[in-house]
Amino acid sequence: MSTQDYDWKPLFERMPELLAPSMAKDHPNLPVVKEEGCYYYGVDGKKYLDFTSGIAVTNTGHRHPKVVQAIKDAADSLLHGPSGVIMYDSILKLADQLQTVLPTGLDCFFFANSGTEAIEGGIKLAKHVTERPYVVSFTGCFHGRSLGALNVTTSKSKYRKFLNPSGSYQIPYFDEDECPQGTDDCIAFSVKKLEKDFHKLFQHQVQPDEVACVILEPVLGEGGYIIPPKEWLQKIREICDQHDILLIFDEVQTGFGRTGDWFAAQTFGVTPDIMAIAKGIASGIPLSATVASAELMQKWPLGSHGTTFGGNPIACSAALATLDVLKEEKLIENAYEIGHYAMNQLENLRLKYDHVIRSVRGIGLMIGIEIVDPDTQKPSGDALLRILDLALEKGVLFYLCGNEGNVIRMVPPLIVTKDQIDAGLNMLEEAIE
Ligand code: PLP
Repeated sequence: MSTQDYDWKPLFERMPELLAPSMAKDHPNLPVVKEEGCYYYGVDGKKYLDFTSGIAVTNTGHRHPKVVQAIKDAADSLLHGPSGVIMYDSILKLADQLQTVLPTGLDCFFFANSGTEAIEGGIKLAKHVTERPYVVSFTGCFHGRSLGALNVTTSKSKYRKFLNPSGSYQIPYFDEDECPQGTDDCIAFSVKKLEKDFHKLFQHQVQPDEVACVILEPVLGEGGYIIPPKEWLQKIREICDQHDILLIFDEVQTGFGRTGDWFAAQTFGVTPDIMAIAKGIASGIPLSATVASAELMQKWPLGSHGTTFGGNPIACSAALATLDVLKEEKLIENAYEIGHYAMNQLENLRLKYDHVIRSVRGIGLMIGIEIVDPDTQKPSGDALLRILDLALEKGVLFYLCGNEGNVIRMVPPLIVTKDQIDAGLNMLEEAIE
């Protein structure tokens, strides 16, 4: 029997016994049979507008024909390319192409399969190069779920329960509540606070010359879509430079057009020493990279890192097609323009439903809508789940984030149109009503 002959519905019902809860119990677990453009097609025969894009993965839209064709063409000649044993043109072409869209100086690549691996690679690289043992990360940031990545992840404390997080120290992330309007005064206050936090850390917990790297998401993703001012990020760069600490940007979620630029580093004008890129790189095929200067990479001892599947020919070909589509269809410009449009529409919605929507935050097409309980005005994951369930019934898929699970994340594919934004937000409004 081929897989096509299965009746999928009974199989979906058996999901809890077939898959571990962490794969099967998240929200909303929409059973789908097909994806195309900005839509998922459910087993129920309904079409769902997708405002999640696999959390910033399918930036070019689902199954973009050029990406699908590139995958088919690649599969006709090579499926696997274990690094170090053979070499093939797509991995070199990809590195060459990525050089042209990354900030100057970030031009050498170690390809892997997932965001987590790219992060682990970055931290390992920093420790090897500096010969220092410690890492500083930021509260609320998410960097993956492997043991190494969890050491620097605090976005959900439950992830860290069983860890002994020795080797990493945390500094508070930019606090949106202290600077909601982004005025010069409150930005200056936040920057001062950041300086004080580092000062305290270096005085009482760890010597700066023991710190290999500082790692953070330049825009807080999983932790609730918080956008720090560029001055705050610039100060981190300055502090790192002062102490010869390497700066790592986790651009797993922000990369490949999400913020309205190729990378958040460009949006904020701050270049890290090491960058982790993944998600949007290959439109859904597993691929990631740790990126640094060739000079830094040369200092990474040969054999101290490796991969079986990283940068395989199928993924690299999908990534090359993804880069072409992002350029040809001007999707990064679209993210910027439609992002502004969506933020305006959402601001109107917030004014109308200010007892439910506490704030709307966004950069490009990376938007968070913070939901509170209408009675208590406290962050409410329950209210959010009710809204998301109703919105899904109406035909639009959103996903949640935030430390309290009360932020709706709106990350549609970058091909989304104004009409689709309007349609999705109308369904969201009906759900809120
Ligand atoms: N870093 C960030 C900012 C992420 O959003 C994620 C995934 O959501 C990761 C790292 C981990 O990536 P992956 O799930 O591909 O390992």
